[in-house]
Amino acid sequence: MKAISVLGSTGSIGTQTLEIAQECPEKFKVVALTAGKNFNLLVEQIKQHQPEVVAIAEQDDLTELHQRLKNLPDNEKLKSIPHLVGGTEGLNIAASWETAELVVTGIVGCAGLLPTLSAIKAGKDIALANKETLIAAGPVVLPELKVSGSRLFPADSEHSAIFQCLQGTPWATNARLSTGIPTPGLRNIQLTASGGAFRDWPAEKLKNATVKDATSHPNWSMGKKITVDSATLMNKGLEVIEAHYLFGLDYENIEIIIHPQSIIHSMIELADSSVLAQMGWPDMKLPILYAMSWPHRIQTQWKRLNLPEIGQLTFNNPDKSKYPCMELAYDAGRSSGTMPAVLNAANEEAVAQFLEEKIHFQNIPKVIESVCEIHKQDLMSNPQLNDVLEVDNWARREVKTYVQRNPHTIINSTFKG
Ligand code: NAD
Ligand code: MG
Repeated sequence: MKAISVLGSTGSIGTQTLEIAQECPEKFKVVALTAGKNFNLLVEQIKQHQPEVVAIAEQDDLTELHQRLKNLPDNEKLKSIPHLVGGTEGLNIAASWETAELVVTGIVGCAGLLPTLSAIKAGKDIALANKETLIAAGPVVLPELKVSGSRLFPADSEHSAIFQCLQGTPWATNARLSTGIPTPGLRNIQLTASGGAFRDWPAEKLKNATVKDATSHPNWSMGKKITVDSATLMNKGLEVIEAHYLFGLDYENIEIIIHPQSIIHSMIELADSSVLAQMGWPDMKLPILYAMSWPHRIQTQWKRLNLPEIGQLTFNNPDKSKYPCMELAYDAGRSSGTMPAVLNAANEEAVAQFLEEKIHFQNIPKVIESVCEIHKQDLMSNPQLNDVLEVDNWARREVKTYVQRNPHTIINSTFKG
């Protein structure tokens, strides 16, 4: 029985992790939950899993959560109310909770950084979904892993695929988990991308893209922010940086391939030119389960892959002019230091502004490019945690300033669909 903490338990990753825990009660016990604002769902999760500790993002919301748990009807009363904590400190307490062995990081965005670092410092194993943590703070996170001995198991489907393929190589030892140093014999990584919401749209039509269009993903059901990142292909760009930190390859050896069916979740090419791929339906539960159960394979009753049912697997190169975010991510990754943190924060803020219908879809890359350009003169090559947090704040402010200074980026009211 493995004791797990679920950070971001009310989100897409969090709820799927809890489904796994429910399906395998003899394998996993949930000891900690953290969430933002969705109290209705959080209370249901607390009733179901009876965790030891629960953290919520806002300290001020603690009283309401406590009242709700205290006032449950008699037939739903908890045996005992969990330890309740709130705010940044509360998230850190839940993330490093003593009895937990593995922490699933399903918080969205750089908000996941401090709790993830707390879990690492406490020596917990991490099932890493929250890619923004590693992208913003790779130079801070990787050394901490070495100090505490905590291991990063990728839960992102592409990185899980690479990790699973690496199990079939001589370097699949415990010690090689996510050290950020090159994997011997690994020549190339091919990250597959569905192409997102606009893969079948001609580039000229993107100027009419609405929030509803950008948040309708053809293959995967995910949170809003990552669904927009898939539509811009920034998600794949961020995953290139994530792969660089996890598997230690140079950027020229990490490629992106469009694969509309999302059946091959990524591939590795080895020194002898053999290529290994991992396949499955597009369902995040499989990579999450593997991150939770490595090195074991747990028997499931999930729908089995049927290639004749799919018929064809197709591949093509991404159109760089249609998806400028990809190149921005490669550039930021190559600049290294604080640049990926700036790219990530500018993207988070630009996507938030797009989701609030303040800026146009096609302005997302323009805003990010402008902010990264300004940061070039202040780039720090070997940042500490405070530097990362500082540039993250700066980049978010800079996006807001850009939008104010460039009123043409703002959507007029007739556009809103
Ligand atoms: P989501 O929006 O569905 O859920 C986010 C969770 O984080 C919620 O529980 C929310 O309450 C919590 N949260 C939000 N802001 C917070 C804050 N400031 N402090 C504390 N908690 C906060 O997001 P998601 O789609 O589940 O994605 C979560 C992470 O996993 C992201 O980093 C994403 O890139 C990554 N990921 C997701 C998928 C997927 O299929 N959803 C796939 C691969 C990677
Ligand atoms: Mg992914």
